[in-house]
Amino acid sequence: MAAPHTSYPLMVKAIALNCFLFPAGYYLGMCFAAPEKHLCFFYLASKEWKTFFFFAVLLPAVSSTLAYYWSRKGWNNHPLARTLAVYALPQSGWRAVASSINTEFRRIDKFATGAPGARVIVTDTWVIKVTTYCLHVAQQQDIHLTVTDSRQHELTPDSNMPVQFLTIRVASVNPYVKAFDIRLNSTEYGELREKLRAPISNAANVVIHQSLSDLFLETFTSLVEMNQTYSVPSTQELEPCIGCMQTIANIKLIKNCQEPNEGECQQCYCRPMWCLTCMGKWFASRQDQQHPETWLSSHVPCPTCRAKFCILDVCIIR
Ligand SMILES: [Zn+2]
Ligand SMILES: [Zn+2]
Ligand SMILES: [Zn+2]
Repeated sequence: MAAPHTSYPLMVKAIALNCFLFPAGYYLGMCFAAPEKHLCFFYLASKEWKTFFFFAVLLPAVSSTLAYYWSRKGWNNHPLARTLAVYALPQSGWRAVASSINTEFRRIDKFATGAPGARVIVTDTWVIKVTTYCLHVAQQQDIHLTVTDSRQHELTPDSNMPVQFLTIRVASVNPYVKAFDIRLNSTEYGELREKLRAPISNAANVVIHQSLSDLFLETFTSLVEMNQTYSVPSTQELEPCIGCMQTIANIKLIKNCQEPNEGECQQCYCRPMWCLTCMGKWFASRQDQQHPETWLSSHVPCPTCRAKFCILDVCIIR
């Protein structure tokens, strides 16, 4: 972040140049270049040109007035300065706050995420959100964070990664600081929590999937639930899953994909020994972490007999 007092006058000049000189110059040029449009006599010009003239004059007028207002009293009126002034101590101004943020911003141990249009930065003292038109700053010691929403994007053959996006509301006890939302990928959640001093509460009871395998497990379960089910012979008793020893085994591998003797999968003759969650974890653990796009179509050996199976072959016991 460049120091605001050096970059803002430059930015305002750039805006003035774009908004004023170019359109106004264009209009002036067209007066001579296209006399048939009657641009020199404003009342004769077409509606489109009148609108254009309106924007060519009004916009720069507003922007230069605004720029003038902002620049008064050493840029104290600028929205950025006002945002920062909330944190200023009585003896120092917003510039001291800006330089504190600047210093922390330069450290490599800050947490940063988000696209350039909605960047979130967490430093030792500050939580900052920078959007194209807005800057939100909150001091870590004043804030409460709450997970308010989660969106999950499923693992499909055409998207590379299953992702879960979390929306976290940052509210400050300082009445001058408006609450704002930050959005991040669930895999970054652990890193964010490390950088924060305040705990994050979970209003929406969102299950946060912090790893790719966690995310995959949900997809795996929903796909397996669509497969045909298996009913055990009445003489057979089901034992606890040998993975977790908690849930009763509820999975049987039956080759459902393609023809019985075709393809990569083989029939597994093991008795049911695993629960759905453990089987999903096993399936995920055998995958190439660098290529999640291959996960759904992959073949994995049965944990006991090594016969290969795919997701279509995992049957839930009813
Ligand atoms: Zn289990
Ligand atoms: Zn087997
Ligand atoms: Zn198969």
